[in-house]
Order: sequence, then structure tokens, then C-alpha cells
Amino acid sequence: MKNFLLNNVSLDSLTTLFSQAPVALALLMGEAQVVEIANQQILDLWGKDEKVIGLPLLEALPEIKDQEFPNILKGVYNTGITYKGNSVRAMIEKSGVLSECYFDFVYAPIFNNGIITGVSVVATEVTEKVLSEQKLRESEIRFKELMEISDYSTGIYTGEDLIIDFANDQMIRTWGKDKSVIGKKLEDALPELQGQPFIKILKDIFKTGIPYIAKEDKVDLVVDGILQSYYYNFSYKPLHDDQGAVYAIMNVAMDVTELVNARKKAQSNEYEYRTLAEAMPQMVWTADASGKIDFCNKNMMELLDCKEDEIKNVDFTRLIHPEDLISLKATWEIAASNKSNFELEYRMLDMQTGGYIWFLSRATPVVENGEIVKWIGTSTNINEFKNLVTQKDTFLGIASHELKTPLTSLKLYAQVLERMLRKTGDEKNAEFAKKMDMQVIKLTSLIGDLLDVTKINSGKIHLNQSNFDFEKLVKETVEELQMSTLHKIELSTENVGMVFADQERISQVITNLISNAIKYSPEAEKVMVEIKNEGNSVNFMVKDFGIGMPEDKKDRVFEQYYRVSGDEQSTFPGLGLGLYIASQIVERSEGKIWVNSILGKGSTFCFSLPKVQS
Ligand code: ADP
Repeated sequence: MKNFLLNNVSLDSLTTLFSQAPVALALLMGEAQVVEIANQQILDLWGKDEKVIGLPLLEALPEIKDQEFPNILKGVYNTGITYKGNSVRAMIEKSGVLSECYFDFVYAPIFNNGIITGVSVVATEVTEKVLSEQKLRESEIRFKELMEISDYSTGIYTGEDLIIDFANDQMIRTWGKDKSVIGKKLEDALPELQGQPFIKILKDIFKTGIPYIAKEDKVDLVVDGILQSYYYNFSYKPLHDDQGAVYAIMNVAMDVTELVNARKKAQSNEYEYRTLAEAMPQMVWTADASGKIDFCNKNMMELLDCKEDEIKNVDFTRLIHPEDLISLKATWEIAASNKSNFELEYRMLDMQTGGYIWFLSRATPVVENGEIVKWIGTSTNINEFKNLVTQKDTFLGIASHELKTPLTSLKLYAQVLERMLRKTGDEKNAEFAKKMDMQVIKLTSLIGDLLDVTKINSGKIHLNQSNFDFEKLVKETVEELQMSTLHKIELSTENVGMVFADQERISQVITNLISNAIKYSPEAEKVMVEIKNEGNSVNFMVKDFGIGMPEDKKDRVFEQYYRVSGDEQSTFPGLGLGLYIASQIVERSEGKIWVNSILGKGSTFCFSLPKVQS
């Protein structure tokens, strides 16, 4: 090829042209590569001045002696083949300092009459670009290293084909794949994504540039060879190039499968419990630690005539029957302070009818770290039962009252008959009449108990209270009882002073306890009675050596109609009312009643009454 420039243009005009060119230019002539022309740009690149013009290249730039350039130039000069260098590194001395520079350059042969006479150098310094690219690469590496150790699953998909450029170990594990997926298209690496929305969402981001944030999205992945459902919180964020175009998408994901499954399970459990609560005929409710109702089933909402979200605002103190409110509060406080079960019968207003309904409420505290966090309770409508009990009490009341009158007459006739027979000397028949009288006494006592119970239950029991000498009363009662029993009643007393109570009723209690002690110790010869001072109270104790009772039954004997069951116990007649009446009398006299007992060994029944302070 003919060198047009050197043939047709003078050196001066060439120099002018070179000096004005926007790129760095130089002509190196001859084998020695003498710097024939070098414009200011190339001198600046070299870090030299015009003095180098006319010098062979290695003299002008001695620092490049051991670098590749002299050889490349020699090659171009010898072969005539143009050489293009891209971002080639060169160490150039600038202001006396050897510095690392990068160049894009073209070495082209200069022909003169078909002979190579030199080499033209056109160069552009790209040091800044290369260094910033290097920095970018380094920071990219650092970034990837960071992503590698991140707890989040991270991946980068480049181009609209979504090539997996990067995926940290966590992401690979999440996918249930191995490192071989890197470099593959996402849809090829995870074919199970077909039919799921994610590939389309990712491709759309390339068009819209709008990130996608997912909360608990379900993703189906083949892990361990099985298609399984997982839940992720994840983001697809577009990465932009210099021109602002999306060149890749970064995916950061967090596996929340366990959380979502646990919540779903809790929700389904809650649903089941709610359904169960709704299906129950009782009212079912929960209350917070302070006892405020925070959930109730449909039955309760109907009674209260309120909706689910209104339950928290219901003022229960206005719904409970005023007569039951005090005992409700007291029972609740005891249960709350002991962290024990709550159980109470009370009346509650029926908002639909305006009448009161009897309920039996039971609640169990839920205790966490020693503190009550919640109450779970039920309230059962016992109105019908209560009505039946009232009817029964009314019947018993009327029946026992009506029976009393003929019994009194019967007793009188039996006594008259006995006296008359004795007068005629018919001792045998007189004994029969006496036995008849004894049976009438027993019957009267049973009817008396029934009458007492109906009185207690209807709140009509009256106590004629007065001050009396307790020791004297005990002595008199024991004396009377001793006359009708073969057991020896051993009495041990001390002066305990006066008590304020219904003397007749307290005598009834003493009689009941001593009679029971005798009745339930048929094999024993004695019972022991003791009274003594105990602080501001008097204590009465009766100890027997009879059948005793099991520990778990002993507190129930004070309940109405309760009789300890067992082979031995069933041989004793009774209604199960005596101790209930006794306990009601003692409690209404501000006293306490209790029992200690060992099965087969005997029992000790005790009660205490407050003393009158002198
Ligand atoms: P009952 O008429 O059955 O004696 P009570 O109310 O007097 O009714 O007593 C209730 C139950 O308590 C009795 O059925 C009996 O099982 C038990 N009990 C009462 N006193 C004694 C005692 N001293 N020893 C053993 N068991 C007793």
C-alpha cells in the first residue's frame, strides 16, 4: 500500500495537522524508530516534551525498554501488519514518576514507494476507564463475596434471558440444586418455575424497571427430587447500567416457610377450637389476666345481645344479680390470688327477656412463668335445674311440715299407751309402745333435718342468737346423749367463757357430731369430747375410733346429701344432711367446721366459734 500522506503532503503541513488532531499521534521513522512527529497529546501521554522529537524511541522513552511496545513496533515495521492494542498497560515516567497507564492504540506501518519507512502511532489513554472498571470488578467481587456469606438467599440474573450470573450457597440450597446452575438460564435451571408467575415478573422488570417485593409468596421447588411448596419474603431489584437501562436483577430471598406453616397451623387450631366452642351448648369464653372477657362463643353473644367486637366493652357487674355480685367478686379474687380454678353459681341478666338466668361458671387460669395470662371458662345454664331444686325444696318443706303434725300426735298416743299398759302391768306391750315412741323420735329427727335443709336453701333459717356459757351447753348435751348410748362419752372441758349464737342450734350441731361419732364407730367403746380455748375462739372436738373416711372425701361430707360411698359406709342409714346443716349453722354463727380422719382408724370432727370478749 502506498503511503499517501508522506508522498503528497509536506512535513510542515503534516505536523500542523497532527498537532491539531484530537488524538495522540506520533510517527516513528526507520528501524531505530526515530520520533519524527509527536503531537502535544502524545507528548502529554508520554509525560515528555518536544525535546524527544528527533530521538530514537528508546532514547525518548527509556522506561519502555523492557516493556512490550518496542517489540510490537518492530513487528509492525517488519511485517507491515497493523496492530491494535486495547487497554494495554504501560509504565510511563510522568513528572519524574513512573506510573501505571492504560492505552488503546493502533500501530500502523508507513509505506513509501511500497517500502515500510516507519510506524504511525495513534493512542488514547484509557487509564481512568480501566482503573474504574477494575474498581468496579473488585467491588463486584467483594459484593459477591459478601453475598456468599449472607444468610439471605441471593442471586443475580443478567439479561432478559435471565442467566444466573450469581447465586450464593444459600440460594443454591434454597433451590435444592448445585453450583452447576450458574451460567444457565433461570428457567432451564429451575424448570419447575414454568407455570408459576416468577419468570414473567422478572422479565417484566427489564421493561418497567419497577422492583417486585414479595411477602410470603408461595414458590414450588423441586427439592430432593420432590416438588414442594415453600414461602418466601423476597425482592427482585433491577440493576441499572450507566445509561440507566436494566442489565440484571438481584434477587434476595428469605425462607419463611416454617413461620407461615406454624401460623397456618395456629390458625387452623384456632379455627377448630372456635368451631368447637360454637358447637358447645354452654357459653364458652376467655378472659384476660384481670378477668375481663375478651372472647366468647355465639351462645354467650346471644345472651348478652352483643357482637364479637363489643364483648370487651360489656360491663358484667351490671348483668350479675346484685345478690350474687359480692360472692362472685370474692370467689374470683380467691381463685386469682391462688391461681386456682374458679367455680360459682350465680344469676345473670338475659338481655333478650330481661329476666335472670342461673348459671354455673367454671374457669381455669392459664399460668405462664408463674403469672396468670388468661382464663378459659364455661358458663352452663342451670336455670331448669335450679327450678327443679326449688320445687323439690318446696315439696320437702310442705311434706315435712305436714308430716310433723300427725307425728306429734302419734308420739303422744305412744307415750299415753305406754303409760296405760304399764299401769295395767302389761310390761311386754309397754316395751313395744316405748319402741314405737323411739321410732317416732327418729322419724321426727329425720323430718326435722329435711325441714332445716329447706329452710337453709330458701334462706329462711332464723338464728335466735344470745350470749350463753358454751361449756355448760356442752356438758348438758353430753349428759343427755349419754343416756341413750352404750358408748362412753369422755368429756374434757375447761372454762371457755361465753359465745354469742343460737344455743339450740349449737346444741343441735354438738348432738349431730357426737351422734355421728357414735354411729360410725359401732365397734368402739368410747368417743372423746374436748373443748378448749384457742385464741379468741372456742374449739369443740369429738374424736371417735370408728370407720374413718378417705382423705379425698373428707371435705365433701359437709355438702348437701353427700354420703361417703363404700361397702362399710353403705350399712349405715342416713340422708347425708346432718353435717350440711351443722356446717351452715356454724358458718352463719361466724365459726368454722372441719374434720381430720384416717380411714379405718377414726375421725375427729371440730368446730370453732368466736368468743364473746369480756
Ligand atoms: P348421714 O345422715 O349420712 O350420717 P351426715 O351429713 O351426718 O349424714 O354425714 C355425711 C357423711 O359423712 C356420712 O354419710 C358418712 O359417710 C360421713 N361421716 C359423718 N360422720 C362420720 C364419722 N364420725 N366417721 C366416719 N364417717 C362419717
